[in-house]
Amino acid sequence: MTAASRARRQDPDAQVVVFERGEWISYGACGLPYVLGGAVKDFDALVARTPAQMRARGVGIRLGHEVTGIDATAATVTVHERASGRTLTEPYDRLLLATGVAALRPDWAQSDLSGVHLLREIPDGQAIEATLKGLAGPVWWGRGT
Ligand SMILES: Cc1cc2nc3c(=O)[nH]c(=O)nc-3n(C[C@H](O)[C@H](O)[C@H](O)COP(=O)(O)OP(=O)(O)OC[C@H]3O[C@@H](n4cnc5c(N)ncnc54)[C@H](O)[C@@H]3O)c2cc1C
Repeated sequence: MTAASRARRQDPDAQVVVFERGEWISYGACGLPYVLGGAVKDFDALVARTPAQMRARGVGIRLGHEVTGIDATAATVTVHERASGRTLTEPYDRLLLATGVAALRPDWAQSDLSGVHLLREIPDGQAIEATLKGLAGPVWWGRGT
């Protein structure tokens, strides 16, 4: 989102479009544990820029759009639009990849054990929060707490 804003600032005539497969953009992932611990009110408090704020800056935000392929020769990307199930082909002049990373799941957590979560994105935090709320009794974090 930083790169998208900067591209737009440098060339106000540029058409800048961001495809985001999820529903959240521009938030402080480092705050996720603090929401779960209660030090930060909720996940919304982690958001730095909303899609509406980015659109007001002239950056097109397409939520729920997963890029599934790149054709560098034709200069197009293939995009799966989750809401409609459609597959789109979108042209580009310049392409910036900013996919982040995927969390590694250790061998001992490969199965569908309940209560085993990754913590990478806001939906992960929401899943952990839902699990914690479903637990009866106190939750103990780590050794000696
Ligand atoms: C719990 C936690 C604590 C952290 N604490 C710190 C800290 O204290 N200090 C620090 O510097 N960093 C911290 N980080 C790391 C920091 O959050 C990341 O370095 C940063 O978010 C990476 O930014 P990014 O834009 O590269 O990727 P991301 O923020 O992961 O953004 C990538 C986006 O691309 C989307 N995407 C991926 N593939 C596709 C696709 N094919 N099509 C469409 N969209 C796609 C994803 O949905 C995601 O929204 C922490 C991270 C976590 C999870």
